[in-house]
Amino acid sequence: MTDPQPSAKRVLLAAPRGYCAGVDRAVVTVEKALELYGPPVYVRKQIVHNKHVVSTLERRGAIFVDETDEVPEGATVVFSAHGVAPVVHDEARALSLKTIDATCPLVTKVHREAVRFADEDYDILLIGHEGHEEVVGTSGEAPEHITIVDNPDAVEHVEVRDPDKVVWLSQTTLSVDETMETVRRLRAKFPRLQDPPSDDICYATQNRQLAVKQMAPDTDLMIVVGSRNSSNSVRLVEVALEHGARAGHLVDYADEIDEAWLDGVTTVGVTSGASVPEVLVREVLDRLAARGYADVHAVTAAEESLSFSLPMEIRKDLKARGQSDRAAAAGGALH
Ligand code: SF4
Repeated sequence: MTDPQPSAKRVLLAAPRGYCAGVDRAVVTVEKALELYGPPVYVRKQIVHNKHVVSTLERRGAIFVDETDEVPEGATVVFSAHGVAPVVHDEARALSLKTIDATCPLVTKVHREAVRFADEDYDILLIGHEGHEEVVGTSGEAPEHITIVDNPDAVEHVEVRDPDKVVWLSQTTLSVDETMETVRRLRAKFPRLQDPPSDDICYATQNRQLAVKQMAPDTDLMIVVGSRNSSNSVRLVEVALEHGARAGHLVDYADEIDEAWLDGVTTVGVTSGASVPEVLVREVLDRLAARGYADVHAVTAAEESLSFSLPMEIRKDLKARGQSDRAAAAGGALH
């Protein structure tokens, strides 16, 4: 394949991309906890699924653990944006830990829905990826009422106690199209299936997928900045390929871009998952510019202005020190 004319090379840059309100809140929560209480601050699981964010916070004094019992008695522990099952709160209480819950409020909303439908004795079909932290946390709210449905093909094996009393909920970071296909098959099997009271796939996941769908047909190569364990980032690559991008790759850092990917490529699409700081996207753009892709066009699918206040525990301690709850966010290495 011959190289396109240098002047024809261009980048389509997705908007929105990168940090969502829940990730921003979770990262600032750990930064503020380090500032308020001093290191170490323990964090159960990766605060958000991004390698760069985790290693930067580690350098500042955060210690990431897999389970609550790895935290020394009486220490401070932050729960990640993905949420935890009630049993994890019980474990923390038993160890007299000071807990700060950075669960995204949009994940908490799904937890509340699960509790409500379980209280009303529904069978809850939770569409989501088995073993993902968010799914583990949500299903822990009512394990005896919840069945996980991993993908459309899993529907044929789903059984419920009463087909007249069944509702579906979902993980917040799924592919919208695949989830709708799963729901279509579930409804064919259980015609009285109820919908969630409002969308469980969050606004950030939906908007990032929408931008990629708009760009994909014009894109030879889609580069998604994000980590492999980031559900919403992995979905962006899939969505790009399903909607016409000729190739798509996930990279944590700009230096993972393989020069061979650019052979014969005129238009590169660039976006990033909801847990990715903008600095990593800038590095990708710089690298592409050095290879002749300096002409950058924004593709805007939606405007976002949502932000969440910090967890109550942090706000209380900041107030006691006379500080605002967003003061340390600006200028940090992760923003
Ligand atoms: S991706 Fe959505 S649910 Fe997850 S932290 Fe961001 S806003 Fe919250």
